[in-house]
Amino acid sequence: MKPIPYGKQNITELDIKAVTEALRSDFLTQGPRIAEFEQAFASYIGCKYAVAVANGTAALHLSALALNVGPGQKVITTPITFAASANCVRYCGGEIVFADIDPQTYLLDIHSVEKLLAASPRGMYAGIIPVDFAGRAVNLEAFRKLADQHGLWILEDACHAPGGFFNDTEGTEQRCGNGQFAELAIFSFHPVKHIACGEGGMITTNDHALYDRLKVLRTHGITRETTAFENPASLATGVSDSKQYPGWYMEMQELGYNYRLTDFQAALGTSQLKSADAGLKRRREIAAQYEDSFKSISGIKRQSGVVEGHAYHLYIIETHKRLELYNHLREKNIFAQVHYIPAHLMPYYQQQGWKPGDFPYAEAYYQCCLSLPMYPSLTDAEQRYVIDTIRQFLNG
Ligand SMILES: *Cc1c(COP(=O)(O)O)cnc(C)c1O
Repeated sequence: MKPIPYGKQNITELDIKAVTEALRSDFLTQGPRIAEFEQAFASYIGCKYAVAVANGTAALHLSALALNVGPGQKVITTPITFAASANCVRYCGGEIVFADIDPQTYLLDIHSVEKLLAASPRGMYAGIIPVDFAGRAVNLEAFRKLADQHGLWILEDACHAPGGFFNDTEGTEQRCGNGQFAELAIFSFHPVKHIACGEGGMITTNDHALYDRLKVLRTHGITRETTAFENPASLATGVSDSKQYPGWYMEMQELGYNYRLTDFQAALGTSQLKSADAGLKRRREIAAQYEDSFKSISGIKRQSGVVEGHAYHLYIIETHKRLELYNHLREKNIFAQVHYIPAHLMPYYQQQGWKPGDFPYAEAYYQCCLSLPMYPSLTDAEQRYVIDTIRQFLNG
């Protein structure tokens, strides 16, 4: 068997053709393919607006800026996520407060968030960053209710869940990142994620004011909107009686960044989006196969069956022999992975005052979790090999 990773991009000939066309066009960056990708992505997710950026971390940073995160503000997130979900608050000088996970879903536990909020004076917290971890959709309807009671915003980290959804209390499918319950949501197009751009990210929202602000922040804080200019036309032209702004004029009105995506990456993103549904279907098939095979193996804890709406970025099992199994799989050329080392145990966050023992469920999960190979191009034979290797190890 050739090496089997835990996740992998799937690049087709059509993707290569789309990128080649972009490279032959007049625009390598800031051309028409950005807006095309944004519109296609917004329509896939079911939101009004989408802003393409350089990567998922930039998407988080710009979102935190647009939500006015700053010193003295506290924001709640889960320790079981990629550190970037928390870091964006730190970039803006805000403080991260972790809350424990639900051991059944591995998602930020709304009850631990409720407890935090109940124990603090109103105004102490500014927002919540729930993560659709592993591809399982957070019930944002419930989080919205809680956030409204306390005057908080919600930034959904949907990096794992393009195409994922939950059913709201009326039975309507609510797609991750659709902006129905969260002010902003973000996605990543790193190769291990569902849609690959090499590097890339997206922010989705239904809020026009936030959308406008994000576009300006993405490109240095510079605007070219004549109606938004602050300086008089006379200053812009250098001619004292000018009433009209000259063609070259633009204004930097706040401190922004260069977090733009290139056109050839956007071309890849738009092309990848076309096979997103097929990829999602295949991920769910693979999950169902794992579920079925592991039923008969003792020593493995799983989530209970295939979860509706789960986007299966990751397929995770828990076992008390995690370290031994991980090493054994490596010897057999199967590169399982651990998601994640709890963020509060990272030395950086321990410097902020967090310590082992703070979040018992997150830490217990971390002791046992293992992400198995999960990507659309994983073949049936490869998956069988993975399952048989695990079965032999745990039963042997
Ligand atoms: C990948 C990921 C990010 C960061 O995305 P990059 O594109 O790698 O910067 C943030 N949050 C989660 C949950 C992720 O999986």
